[in-house]
Amino acid sequence: MADSRRVALEADLHVHSTVSDGTEAPARLLEQAAAAGLAAIALTDHDSTAGWADAAAAVPATGVALIPGMELSTRQGWTSVHLLGYLVDPDDEALVAETAHIRESRLARAETIVRRISRDYTLTWDDVLAHSAEGATIGRPHIADALVARGHAVDRSAAFEGILHPSRGYAEPHYAPDPLTGVRLIREAGGVPVLAHPGTRGAERVLPEATIGALVAAGLFGLEVDHPENRADALPRLRALAERHGLAVTGSSDYHGSGKPNRLGQCRTAAEVVARIVAEGRGSAPVLP
Ligand code: AMP
Ligand code: FE
Ligand code: FE
Ligand code: ZN
Repeated sequence: MADSRRVALEADLHVHSTVSDGTEAPARLLEQAAAAGLAAIALTDHDSTAGWADAAAAVPATGVALIPGMELSTRQGWTSVHLLGYLVDPDDEALVAETAHIRESRLARAETIVRRISRDYTLTWDDVLAHSAEGATIGRPHIADALVARGHAVDRSAAFEGILHPSRGYAEPHYAPDPLTGVRLIREAGGVPVLAHPGTRGAERVLPEATIGALVAAGLFGLEVDHPENRADALPRLRALAERHGLAVTGSSDYHGSGKPNRLGQCRTAAEVVARIVAEGRGSAPVLP
């Protein structure tokens, strides 16, 4: 059910919790958002809506509005492309089935990666489990934390640049649908799809304008232009693409707690754009203080 109240608040629309690869519990993120002076955040865990209830419970005490969302994994060839889906119906059958498939593949893939690493370094699957919350969407960051705990890397970023780097031969991709299927899944679940961090090198390479045009035709709402990891020299092209295709421009931090240098509220989305997302989202409603 869409909320009939108009929500026009500046917001950080891309935040991760322990339900995926963030280091903070969902409710804790709302406390941190209040401390950062944010009026609203979107919870966008990878391929999961499991943190929504915990986050929603913290809305009254913190006074921070919650826009429920997720970051859906998709893949174009070998390159991962992330789609933010705001206000989806968390019970939509197709979305539930697809995200379950992705999470299962993530788990099997992580076990494979750990098995490969364990031939050369001291690392066990139990190490990874010790660094992930029960039921969490597993990703390379959890393996990175286990590598850090074993002393094989100084922090997550170093693990990504070292043992987990594709060139080292341990990592491999997980199953994910293509971006066009992802946009359709989000729209059919009543959600509002935004292309996450489209200005990273890989995303730019696999998303020529014709592909963006096809995503727009399928219902893409916007581009996450303002994101800490978008390359500065990609921004003019992204702004021009948004202009030509009538896409909204969002800004978000992609905060992962202490797992990444990104700071909560570092990039934000204009109140007017948040209002349009809320007006278009039909699968679920924002949770207001
Ligand atoms: P995966 O989900 O296994 O494909 O891993 C990708 C996730 O790892 C992304 O969601 C990022 O948040 C995180 N990530 C990627 N690079 C880094 C890095 N250098 N430092 C910390 N986290 C990273
Ligand atoms: Fe992540
Ligand atoms: Fe992402
Ligand atoms: Zn993210």
